[in-house]
Amino acid sequence: MERIIIIAPLLTFFIGYNFGIIFSRMVAILSIIVLIIFYPSHIIASAVICALLLTEIFLEKFYKQMNSLRQNYNGILNGLVNDLASLKKDSDMAKISLSGNEKAIKNILHIYELSKDIAGYVDIEKMFNLIVKSLDEQFTIKDISMRIFDNNKLFHNGTQVNIEENVKSQKVVGNVINLPLSIGEIFFGVIAVKIPVLYEKDTEFFDEISAFVEELNIAIQRAILHSKVEAMSRTDGLTGLNRRGYFNERLKEEEFRAKRWKGKFSILMMDIDHFKNVNDTYGHQAGDTVLKTISEILKSFIYETDFAARYGGEEFVVIFPQTDPSGLKIKVDKIRQKIEETEIIVGLEKLKVTASFGIAHYPKDGFTSDEVLKKADMSLYKSKETGRNKVTECE
Ligand code: GH3
Ligand code: MG
Ligand code: MG
Repeated sequence: MERIIIIAPLLTFFIGYNFGIIFSRMVAILSIIVLIIFYPSHIIASAVICALLLTEIFLEKFYKQMNSLRQNYNGILNGLVNDLASLKKDSDMAKISLSGNEKAIKNILHIYELSKDIAGYVDIEKMFNLIVKSLDEQFTIKDISMRIFDNNKLFHNGTQVNIEENVKSQKVVGNVINLPLSIGEIFFGVIAVKIPVLYEKDTEFFDEISAFVEELNIAIQRAILHSKVEAMSRTDGLTGLNRRGYFNERLKEEEFRAKRWKGKFSILMMDIDHFKNVNDTYGHQAGDTVLKTISEILKSFIYETDFAARYGGEEFVVIFPQTDPSGLKIKVDKIRQKIEETEIIVGLEKLKVTASFGIAHYPKDGFTSDEVLKKADMSLYKSKETGRNKVTECE
């Protein structure tokens, strides 16, 4: 009998556990009680059953804990996976917006570089040409107009754009954006550009073009002041030669003197050949270096009593008082040769240019200085027409 009492709890634990935990435990407790009361000599057996019971209770608690731990752990793990997924989404979004910002920063930096280059100039006309070039390259803008209030000067390229003069901030009228030029509260002009279709709804474009013009405000103001000072001076800032206005005065004086003393004088007009190509190929700064070099050559050939001036962009004029015509032609041809063989260094490049010349004499070719000047210009035109790099004397 006692064997059954001992084996029963073992069987229920190992085989009959499926009947239920409470049932196994009841059997074990019952066996222990019966063994202690009726078979005290089987103390070891009851101790073993007791130990089994306690182990089972412990194991059950242990599994329960493990399960709840596992559930917690799974919950945390799922949370982490979700967090990670949302983090990845955030980082992807950040990457997209970062690449957008990067583009905007790059554009702004490029605009800053462009405006810095333009600010290197002091001539308002050249500055405008560079603004036109930059806006075309950066935004494919073709039509630009600029009004400077002070001297009521209007610059434009392509088709003239209607300018709204009273703008204090960026103002769009139709397909034209008006950008005020100002230093502090002083508004001194407006730049108006036709908005390319591509940018009509692009807010970045409006920001960038405003930034570009803002960068130029001080440079344009400086160029305006420079042109005022230049207009008051007799000397051309770039070449150091006399300016056209002063040349006209001197020519009248020369005419007066020649008429009074029955004297003579000659006029030389000179124009650099294909100068536009120099600007287009090497840039305006290179063009300026060429102008300076040519002016120096011209100066080195003439006497103190001669009068040389920069007549226009790349046109020069010289008055030679009391000069022998045949000797003059030889001299001018030497100037032509010198220009032709001079290597002009611009940056890393060496370039050569040629020039065309026209000569006319008073009183042989005209009875007024205006007539002689016109004849010199016609002779220059002939040099151009017949192949350039030539000296033509009025017939
Ligand atoms: P041609 O042989 O027929 O004279 O050809 P060209 O290219 O020299 O003639 P054109 O008159 O068409 O071009 C003159 C150019 O000179 C146009 C203008 O941009 C440039 N220019 C005028 N003034 C300046 C200046 O001060 N600096 C520079 N860099 N260029 C100037
Ligand atoms: Mg010319
Ligand atoms: Mg020319």
